[in-house]
Amino acid sequence: MIPYGRQFIDEEDIKSVVEVLKSPFITQGPKVAQFEEKLAEYCGARFAVAFSSGTAALHAAYFSAGLSEGDEFITSPITFAATANAGLFLGAKPVFVDVERDTGNIDADLIEEALTPKTKLIVPVHYAGFPANMEKIREIAEKHGLKVVEDACHALGAEYKGSKIGSCEYSDATVFSFHPVKHITTGEGGAVLTNCEDVYKKLIMFRSHGITKNAEDFENPPHGPWYYEMQFLGYNYRITDIQAALGISQLKKLPAFLKKRREIAERYQMRLKDSSLFHTPEEKSYGKSAWHLYPATLKDEYLAKKREIFTIFLEKGIGVQVHYIPVYHHPFYRRLGYSLKLENAEDFYLREISLPLYPALKDEEFEKVIEVVNWITESIR
Ligand SMILES: *Cc1c(COP(=O)(O)O)cnc(C)c1O
Repeated sequence: MIPYGRQFIDEEDIKSVVEVLKSPFITQGPKVAQFEEKLAEYCGARFAVAFSSGTAALHAAYFSAGLSEGDEFITSPITFAATANAGLFLGAKPVFVDVERDTGNIDADLIEEALTPKTKLIVPVHYAGFPANMEKIREIAEKHGLKVVEDACHALGAEYKGSKIGSCEYSDATVFSFHPVKHITTGEGGAVLTNCEDVYKKLIMFRSHGITKNAEDFENPPHGPWYYEMQFLGYNYRITDIQAALGISQLKKLPAFLKKRREIAERYQMRLKDSSLFHTPEEKSYGKSAWHLYPATLKDEYLAKKREIFTIFLEKGIGVQVHYIPVYHHPFYRRLGYSLKLENAEDFYLREISLPLYPALKDEEFEKVIEVVNWITESIR
């Protein structure tokens, strides 16, 4: 089966992990800080804090942006459940706003009408790696005194108006995931980037039980040199040096990974531009996608046949996936009382099929995908 996405690990990656295993520190040694420094440098942000997963990173970012019990936050339903769940962890309520038909990103023009006095935060998701309309989102946030956290789990290496996603030029914090299907991997892992020192300090503490060892941050006079303080309820969301070493090694390959993803995406664009089965995704002028996914969308004539089409892909060895079931459809969210159906999100869900896209995808595998697309186009009518 050709999957829709997978990691690329080479000997150099393996060597860097083995080195850590032989060193005195396998967790909380020098590699975590090095990885963070390199990430911050790559994205052009002041600070990066690495976490045990993208979900932990989202949780920490929302906490550090001040989200708490009884608050509301705005996000997109076309995302992985974790984007919304991480707010629920804090007792806050996700408010889903409809997406743009073309990009699957949150429609910034619909955000203001969804705001209430309880709204504290906006969380755009850069779907498939293409940036959301950040300038507009920043403008709304400033006007209403809201924070912005970018869920950039799809968008490491993407650009918005010439600046890297992760530079936090339009947000308070940006979250990445290093799950194996994402651009670089640490096994499990994630990170938050920010330019705000106060957010940075909270992230560091949230990752480790809400504890600080910094004397200048103590609330009480230290009892002695052993003293540390727990100042709020945090978690153990630490990443290990083993993982960070893999992350550092992977980050070196990111430019090559991105180039390969873009090349494959461009080949899909060319080969599918006259397809009667699929509409092809497009980049708007303000952004450059990191191409985490290749989200093809079925044309009207094939809409009713999605199940059948999806099944044929699988039967013929193409591991397509659908990104995403709108989050509010999940039984857990229904039980919380969400009964909505947002028009464009529903339409996007009906049409979307993610075709295989990852740096290690071979030419003959790409050709096999195209062959199956052509077979389906002719056989299903
Ligand atoms: C992968 C992903 C996450 C969660 O990241 P994990 O590292 O798997 O916890 C969150 N949001 C989006 C959009 C993702 O794609």
